Amino acid sequence: MGLRVMGVARIGDSLRVLEMTADELDDLQQHGQPIQEIADVNSHGEEVVAIQNPANRRIGDSRAGQMGQSRQVAHDRQDDWEYVLVKEGGSQPCDDRSVQAGEFCQLEDQLDRPPFGTNLTYSVERYTRYSQTSGTSGVPLRWLDTNEGWSWMVANWERVLNSSGVTRADRIFFAVSFGPFLGFWTAFEAGTRLGCLCIPGGGMSTGARLRTMHDNAVTVLCCTPTYAMRLGESAAEEGIDLTRIAVRTIIVAGEPGAGIPSVRSRIEHLWPHAKLKDHHGMTEIGPVSYECPVTRRLLHVMDGEFISEVVDPATGGRLSPVDTGELVLTNLGRAASPLIRYRTGDIVKQAAEVPCACGSYEMALEGGIIGRTDDMVVIRGVNVHPSAVEEIMRGFEEVAEYRVEVATRSSMPELSLCVEPVSGYLETDDLIRRIQSGFRGAFNLRVPVNIAAAGALPRFELKARRWIKDGADGD
Ligand SMILES: [Zn+2]
Repeated sequence: MGLRVMGVARIGDSLRVLEMTADELDDLQQHGQPIQEIADVNSHGEEVVAIQNPANRRIGDSRAGQMGQSRQVAHDRQDDWEYVLVKEGGSQPCDDRSVQAGEFCQLEDQLDRPPFGTNLTYSVERYTRYSQTSGTSGVPLRWLDTNEGWSWMVANWERVLNSSGVTRADRIFFAVSFGPFLGFWTAFEAGTRLGCLCIPGGGMSTGARLRTMHDNAVTVLCCTPTYAMRLGESAAEEGIDLTRIAVRTIIVAGEPGAGIPSVRSRIEHLWPHAKLKDHHGMTEIGPVSYECPVTRRLLHVMDGEFISEVVDPATGGRLSPVDTGELVLTNLGRAASPLIRYRTGDIVKQAAEVPCACGSYEMALEGGIIGRTDDMVVIRGVNVHPSAVEEIMRGFEEVAEYRVEVATRSSMPELSLCVEPVSGYLETDDLIRRIQSGFRGAFNLRVPVNIAAAGALPRFELKARRWIKDGADGD
């Protein structure tokens, strides 16, 4: 095993993580200014060496050089590295971080080395923030941040707010629970940095949230797309007239909904004076994208903060720029818990046009996050993505909530639907016919539809779980 290297560049006041090969490190040392070595010890007692290159060149403003070619970006930036953190081959956490295609950092080591795994650059005492996800198999994935890494995430969210037209005059309401999920924590702090009045909506009922927004003349709402619909649909029952509420911007994240046309139009129909803005991020990667200010349903990856690639989910091989594939990210501002060439599991399609209509050269994702590599089911030879089902179901205003059941019978997966109409809706036979017709049109599938009683299906505030596979909760 050769020397595997993780590079950390100090740019301005922050550390940024990049990968590099041993040869590239040699190059840097040969061409760089005098280099000073600083030894340090990471959380597992392994010695790491930070090499300081005092050539204090700023990161290039060569946006034109990016053009979506992530490797090129990495090499362009090589000249700008001021710090290089080196770990010897065989030591954690570099084992899974080869620059060779097909080898990606995975997070299973938390189970092998509990509780926090081996992805920590520093000793645990340096970390101040704890987040966790539900994990793909229900086992929580824990993620720690230092103040520096956290601050980088807040700065990314500031960019999301800025690109959404939020100013210090705005009042932002966060309709989320503020538990251990990273959720909108960094968004909240970004709002305060911008000078906005930020109102937490944790631990509140839907009605209390609506009244708080109304009574405080809130102008910006942050929540999941599912919950934006839920709030909108509950407003009438709570006596809140959404045509007279001050909310003019809704920033959604946590689910792919805003990239789905029918979800988008439904939310904007419910909130007639608000424009919808999409965003996506991941607990372990950080806040990744913002919606193009010119083209709707287009997400820009913040290229200055990430190295982004799109790969074939089956082989891990690099794809040409406009192909649909899996988003792979290297985050550059979370040096204390970095991810290098991390397979996000998100399916995306890059926009062909560079630069974008907004003038950006950053990677642009058409329709945002299209789906997850692990969420597609094959029914009678037809590929069915949950986002395609969501597109159909949200086209029916009569549907309040739904659940998809996938049951394997004689080793053949079969799909059925449970639909809860909005309260007071009685024409259920007609609704069933129209939903079935929608599924025949989209997938050429005959899908049984059952009607659920009002309030029978669960409502979701964070990640919606509408898919039940063989009786188990799908993620
Ligand atoms: Zn754009």
